[in-house]
Formats: sequence, structure tokens, C-alpha cells
Amino acid sequence: MDVPNPELAETIVNLCKRRGFVYPSSEIYGGFRSTYDYGPLGVLLLRNVKEAWWRAMVQLRDDVVGIDAAILSSPRVWEASGHLANFTDPLVDCRNCKERWRADHIEGGCPNCGSTDLTDARAFNMMFKTFVGPVEEDANVAYFRPETAQGMFVNFLNVLQTTRKKPPFGIAQMGKSFRNEITPGNFVFRTREFEQMEMEYFVPPDEAKQWFEYWCDARLSWYADLGIPEGMLRLRHHDPEELSHYSAGTADVEFAYPWGWGELEGIANRTDFDLKAHAEASGERLEYFDQATGERYVPHVIEPAAGATRAMMAFLLAAYAEDEVGGESRTVLRLHHQLAPYKVAVLPLSKKDTLTPAAREVLSLVQPHWMCDYDETQSIGKRYRRQDEIGTPFCVTVDFDTLDDRAVTIRERDTLEQVRVPVDALVDELSSRLTV
Ligand code: ATP
Repeated sequence: MDVPNPELAETIVNLCKRRGFVYPSSEIYGGFRSTYDYGPLGVLLLRNVKEAWWRAMVQLRDDVVGIDAAILSSPRVWEASGHLANFTDPLVDCRNCKERWRADHIEGGCPNCGSTDLTDARAFNMMFKTFVGPVEEDANVAYFRPETAQGMFVNFLNVLQTTRKKPPFGIAQMGKSFRNEITPGNFVFRTREFEQMEMEYFVPPDEAKQWFEYWCDARLSWYADLGIPEGMLRLRHHDPEELSHYSAGTADVEFAYPWGWGELEGIANRTDFDLKAHAEASGERLEYFDQATGERYVPHVIEPAAGATRAMMAFLLAAYAEDEVGGESRTVLRLHHQLAPYKVAVLPLSKKDTLTPAAREVLSLVQPHWMCDYDETQSIGKRYRRQDEIGTPFCVTVDFDTLDDRAVTIRERDTLEQVRVPVDALVDELSSRLTV
């Protein structure tokens, strides 16, 4: 899919609002500048994206451990990391309509009014500042973290000592980051408050190149394995002039957004930049000492840095499909089972009281295993459509025969195949069908 498709973006934004994935924040007060709230389905989808990442990056590996660092930290962290001096975007003002833009995001004139009467670019620091304690003075300034990565660097020694890991090993973290973006937009693609999933992989310096390539492949595959079609994904290596000051190599996993190719995740070879910077500023020796060889060195770092909220949006865009069932069109989210908000919907065929106890019993059997929906309103056809539209892989229908034969019908979202299974075998049957 090389052709941008702006309509799809609008379709997804509408679906997200209508079905409860993502709402504009503070909507009853007219909204609040590109901030969003995650609704009942969005919170599940986002959590599943993060869990899938944690599973691949931490659970299934014995060389990566997790942490959860504070969002606020000593300002010295951001001084040493270079964020206070360098975490800036070039800001230009349009003298005609007074809009502000990121200089590297505009070509020619002002995107709003077309005027070419723009100010020179000036550096704008993107960190959100706050004050800790009741007195608003410079001594109390703190910053909301603009990335989760520094939490791993400042805890390098703690983790090394408590886990006795030996390079190559990694520290992973997921959580909120904050950037005062000049031009947030494209729904949750770029917001000022967002979630990241980052991992710092510490390696012997002479292995950095090979691990960089390893993580580029591994991270690209992660998205493909979770259902993003290959044609919507690519790896783009940065040109040397594009590289950040600390990077010896960066590649982006890019996704074909409705408006064109854009970053989904960045993988950077950060060398020993961060550990050295923090060692110098803190006076601690942020090194690895290999007792076997007597060698002491500062590991190099390969960092796969992904956005959870941005990835959630990409998964939604890639999963969206419209097809025809029995001459009727339907919307379906072909989300990977791991990501689907609800795995199972339990649907009594009709709202008749006689079916409710049996349907409730089925629900109580399935609920301990998976997130389930229960719906007894409207016609069964409409309820199937509703579940298709939110990506539920399996509907379990309880009908009048169930009362006699203690069997239910499983309907599969993608193939529409229906099979009848005994209630007692339902959990086993669903387990074998749900892809982990
Ligand atoms: P960009 O060039 O798009 O501003 P970046 O290169 O500064 O992004 P990184 O610092 O590499 O981004 O952050 C890692 C990941 O975090 C990005 O690939 C993206 O998925 C996510 N991310 C970064 N900024 C935002 C944001 N403002 N809103 C949502 N996700 C973001």
C-alpha cells in the first residue's frame, strides 16, 4: 500500500469515537489540544499492545529485565543526557496568521495560510517543566520525562548489581512520556502525552554493529507477526546527516499511514554516549567489570524505541477491512488475537428470559480465561456485526437447543465458520483456536 488514503484516517477516528476506543480529551469542555482519553475498548487494545511487547521483549527472553522508573526525576538527569540543551525542535512563526510550525515539517509557505513571511527558526525545548514542592522557584524545577530511556541508564548499576546480568543484556520499560510538540496531530500519531515501549540493550563495544542489525530484524518481525501486512511495513536507515548527536546508526521501522510512510519505531546504536555522560555528571563508574577476563569497559547500547499509542493506531489501521457477508457489507477489524480487546462475545440468541441463565453460565465459564463481552440487545445479525467491527475473534451463541443438548455455537470472525461444541468443551476449544 503505497498510496496514501486520507479517508481511512477519518474512518478510524470515527470508529474509535463511536465504539469507545479513543475519545477526544475534555470533550464536554470543547476538547483539549490533541489530547485523548482511551475508552473501554481502547484501554484493552493499548494494554494488549503493551503486553505483546513485554511478552516478546521480556517474558520470552532471559537476557532482558524490566523496570518502571518514575516520571519525575532529578533535573541533573536531563542535563547530563543532553535533553536540556538539545531536546529542541526548530520553531517558526507565520507573521501573517500567527500559526507556529516545526520548520522541518513545512515546505515552502505556511501550511495554514500559504504565506512565506515566516520568522527564522529558533530552538524550542520540548520538555514539560513543573515545580516540585509548594514554591515555584528555579531550585524546584523538574521535568516530565520526554522518553523512558534515561530511567534505564540511571539504573544501569542497580540492575547490574541486583540481577548479575552480563552484556549482552537489556533493560526494558513501558510508560508515559511527555513532549511539548509544536505540531501534534494525525490523531494519536503525535500527541503531547503518549506511551513508549523502550529497551536499552547493553553490549560489548565490538558487538554493537551485529546487535543493531539483530534488533532491526527482530523489531520489524514483531509488527509483521502481529498482523501488519508486509507491504505496510519497511525499515529505513537514516542518512549520516540525519543521525542524532549520540547515534552511530539509526533505522526506523516505518508504517504506511493513510498520509504516507512515517515512523513507527526507531532503533538506534547509541554507542557509550549515555553511560559516559551520566558517569561524568554523577561521578559513578557506569561500567561493566568482567571477573572472568579482568576486563572493565563501558557497554555500547542498542535501543529499540517504540510508541505504544502510535503502534495501537497502526494496528487499527492495518486491521480495518470492509467485506460482504451474505450480500450485506460489514466492517471488520482483523486484529491479531493477542491484540483484540475482547477475545470472546457471549450472545444469547434472543433476549428471552429462558436463555439468560444458560448464557450467564457460559459467560462465567469463559470469563476467568479471557476478556469477554456479553450482549443480549438487538438481533443476532446486528450483534455479530458489532463484534466484527471491534475485532472480537469468537462469538459464542447460546440458543434454545442449548437448553436440551448443552452445546453452543462458536462463530469465527474471519472465516465466519460456525461449529457446535459442548459447553463442557468450550474453554478447551477456544484455547486451541486463540493464537497466543
Ligand atoms: P518524531 O521524529 O516522529 O518526532 P522521534 O524520532 O523523536 O519521533 P523517538 O524519540 O525515537 O521519536 O521516540 C520513539 C518512539 O516514540 C517513536 O518511534 C514513536 O513511536 C513514539 N513517539 C515519539 N514521539 C511521540 C509523540 N509525540 N506522540 C506519540 N508517539 C510518539
